Amino acid sequence: MKYLFLLVAVFGLTSCSEHAESGHWSYSGEDGPEHWAALDASFELCGVGESQSPINLSGFEDVELPVLGLQYGAGGYAVLNNGHTIQVNVEAGSTLTIENHLYELKQFHFHSPSENTVEGEAFPLEMHLVHADEQGALAVLAVMFETGDPNTVLASIWSQMPPAADETAELAVRVNPIDLLPPSRDYYRFDGSLTTPPCSEGVVWLVLAEPVQASEDQVNALLTTLGHSNARPVQELNGRTVLK
Ligand SMILES: [Zn+2]
Repeated sequence: MKYLFLLVAVFGLTSCSEHAESGHWSYSGEDGPEHWAALDASFELCGVGESQSPINLSGFEDVELPVLGLQYGAGGYAVLNNGHTIQVNVEAGSTLTIENHLYELKQFHFHSPSENTVEGEAFPLEMHLVHADEQGALAVLAVMFETGDPNTVLASIWSQMPPAADETAELAVRVNPIDLLPPSRDYYRFDGSLTTPPCSEGVVWLVLAEPVQASEDQVNALLTTLGHSNARPVQELNGRTVLK
């Protein structure tokens, strides 16, 4: 009996420390962006990092940027509400190649309003396509949405968006994220970080210059489902340049 009690106590502690490790954070109040670094030791970079995202893209340096090699398929198979964003998980096989460096698309998700701004302008919605190479280095391709016509691809995802946090729905029709990109592949590039804790740096950021459209109702549907906006404020450039 005593032994059983000990076992329960140990399990209790384990689940407690796991909760602490996951580190509760949010977009406002006492666990909002200004306090992320203080919430958990592993979130330190959110406060002291010098290459943090998002940023206001400005002061562009004109260069010949390499063409983005986008080989996406209809791999979006599930939509997840994780309480911080709505995310579509993508099966293996969709890739991004930049100058022979291959990254695999893992997931894409949405922020409202946009996290990055372009010459001071925020957009109502921003999509992040998160890629990783074989070593785990990350490249995020960002797409801005302006208000306009309803987006049919978003509509198919939104129709299955789980209303509650920590729920996942299998997508009835698999999504090809190529259908969410603008015709032009012109982009901006800079070095940055994850825009959420633990704010890890060394992330290659690629922001498509041409926005696509979504309706005001679609933007509002994301905000209503999450119950809050989900954009970290723009961070200091600290001498970084934005290539165009
Ligand atoms: Zn994001």
